[in-house]
Order: sequence, then structure tokens, then C-alpha cells
Amino acid sequence: MEDEISSYVDEILSAVGDDLDLSREEIEKEFRKFLEYGVPPDLAKRSLVKKFGGDRSGRKLLKDVRPNERNLNLICKVITKNVKQISVRGESRIIHYGLLADESAILPFTSWRSSFPAEKGDVVEIRNAYSREWHGNVQINMGERTSIKKLEEDVLPDLHQEPRKCKIMDIYKTFGPLELKVKIMDIAEKDIEIGGGKRRIYSGILADDTGKAQFTAWHDFDLKKDDVINIRGCYARFWKGIPQVILDERTEVKKLSEKMETTSPVLPLHKLVELRGGLDITAEGTVIEIKEGSGYIERCPECRRLMRNGECRIHGKIKGIADLRLRLVLDDGFAGIGVILNRELTEKLIGKSLEECKRIVETEGREKLLEDISSSLLTRRIRVRGNAFGDEFGTTLIARSAEILNENLREEAEKLLQMLEGER
Ligand SMILES: [Zn+2]
Repeated sequence: MEDEISSYVDEILSAVGDDLDLSREEIEKEFRKFLEYGVPPDLAKRSLVKKFGGDRSGRKLLKDVRPNERNLNLICKVITKNVKQISVRGESRIIHYGLLADESAILPFTSWRSSFPAEKGDVVEIRNAYSREWHGNVQINMGERTSIKKLEEDVLPDLHQEPRKCKIMDIYKTFGPLELKVKIMDIAEKDIEIGGGKRRIYSGILADDTGKAQFTAWHDFDLKKDDVINIRGCYARFWKGIPQVILDERTEVKKLSEKMETTSPVLPLHKLVELRGGLDITAEGTVIEIKEGSGYIERCPECRRLMRNGECRIHGKIKGIADLRLRLVLDDGFAGIGVILNRELTEKLIGKSLEECKRIVETEGREKLLEDISSSLLTRRIRVRGNAFGDEFGTTLIARSAEILNENLREEAEKLLQMLEGER
């Protein structure tokens, strides 16, 4: 019997693979427990192989992948692949990310492997991947233990999936091929280096009545500014919460003769934080904090860097250019975002020119100017519009326009502030 157990454990180990942080003793212990309960050894083996995810031949369809699964074996097509340099604990690393598709679904992926041996369009067998939840969606992750092998393209059935009709605000939640009706707001062409060759791409901004997105077309669809078009079979990806629509050779583009209204969506702050970011967003909230670095500043005339004590970090002692800026925290009682305002918008909101601010700093000190800014802005409700970016520290909107809203609301805002302070 002992020999038999040992050979079963061997079989389980070889099925599970040697890449698990799982000792022979652990498997044997679990196996014996099954036997104690009278489970036939064959069934016990199968159950343990399944439990430890070692069913290596078992291919999973993308539609069946749930968050936090391990040892995923997939056969899918690389729909898009991009490279990004990121910093992990101070070390710079290259990661690959994009979209994978099989006959059941399309999911985003991130690969932490040092290399990614497949290109856009390749059909690959992926072993030992794992899944995470990202943005309310399942994402496939690959690490150093994940293997990626190229297969013949006909291994997968025809991947023709019906594109899903949606609006720009919906693409945050939709990972399949999309069908969008949009207006081209802006377009430019650019030559880029890819795989040793040059390719011309067309990129810009598109919009509908729910929002705006950046786009990149890998094919010349002869698009012009103000064209209203129907796009069938495009894909979406995101950069810091900014949606980007990708059109490739197989995307169908039809020009329409109709007119289209576009808009800057007004998003409640919790919605914006949930989406992480967005292009040309309008948001409203109460100024609950004026952050450090706000007010009168001096920039290096050479590199525009912020100077400290009359010195640029790169260019040393130099006569700086006077500037104003505001870094605010805007809150509506449900969520908060950071807002950055340039000189022009700062002057407008605080009702003081750069010269006046400079004079206050020179005669009464930096603190006095900040006090003035606080008393004119803190607890006031403002509306800002611009691009919003999300990262691990939250969402920040770079304002292109800003205005103070109805003064009557100020009392309400003060209550909100007291409530928030009470929570701290
Ligand atoms: Zn400088």
C-alpha cells in the first residue's frame, strides 16, 4: 500500500507540475486524508490534481476565467500588444500588455515576463497564467513561470465575434470588439518604428454624446476632422483611465452624412474616480484643501522646472520666471479628486493677478498669499473641465477651464467641510 501511495503522489506531482510551491509531503498528507475517508485512490488523485490546478491539458475558455485563478492554460490570439516601462520598487521594468481573444471572449492581459515571444495576430498557447480583477473585469496575468508558445493560426476556430454597439462611456466596461458611432474631433498622421520597419498611423480624438476618447488607426481610412462615422470591429484600451480606441485593417469604417452633437460629460466625482480618468471631463465639487506647492512659484527659464530658493535642480542659480498655480482637492461628499490649475485659471479663481501675488509675497510673505487664497477658495464650490488621469494615488484633473459656482452654496459647502473634518 505504501508503494501504491507513493506512486499516486508521483502521478499527482507530475500532473501538477514542478512549478508549484507545494511539497511532496503536503500532497501525500492530503491524499492519505482522502483514503481515510474511504475515497478510492483514483478519485482522490483526480480530485487533488484538480484542486492544485495541475490539469495541464485542460484548456480554459476566456469566458470561464474568474478573478484569482492560478495555473490557467489558454489558447488564444494576441489582438493587441503594447510595451510599457514601469518602475517597481525603484527598478525599471518592461511589461507587455494588450488584449487576448479566443472563440468565447476577449480579455486584457499584462505580462511580467522579461520577454513576450508573440506578436499581434499570433495564436498562442499560454500555460500557467493567472487572473486578477482589474476595473471590475478579469485580467490575464503572466509571470516568469508562464510559458507562451506560438501555434498555427487554424488551431482556433474563426474568431469572428459580433461587435457590441455602444457609446464611449460604455467602453470602460466592454472588452470585446466594439461598434461606435462617433465624430472625428481631431486627426493627425505620424510615422512610427515598429519591428524594424516604419508604419504610418493616424491618431486623434473622437467623440459622441457621452464622451471623448483618443484613437489610433493602423490603416488609412481617409478620415477627416468633423467626419461622422460608424466604426465596426474596433477595440478599446486605457492609459491612466483615458480611453483609447484602436482601429486595425479589419475594422469597418463607414462615413455617415448625419450631424452629431458631442459633449464634455459632467461626471459625479465618485464616478470619475471609479473610471480612474477620462478625456475632456467636467466635474464639480467643493474645495476642501489647497495643497502644498500652490500659489506663487518661480520656474527655471531653461527647463520650466519648479525652482527652490532661486535655484533650478539642473541649471543652478538662475533668474526664474514668475508663475502661479493651484493644486486643489475637490470633494463632493462621496469622493475626492486632485485638480491642477495654471496661472490664467488661478488668477481668475482667486481674483488676483500674478503681479499682485508677487507683490504680496515680497512685502508680506508667502504665507499671507496662501491665507488670501484659502479665504477666497476654501469651501467654495467650483466647476472644472479638462483631462483626468488616474494612478495609484487617485485621480487628478488638469483643468483647462474653471469657474466658481453659485455663492449661495457656500454655506452648504461649509457644512460639508465640517462633516468631513468630523470624520477625521
Ligand atoms: Zn532648469
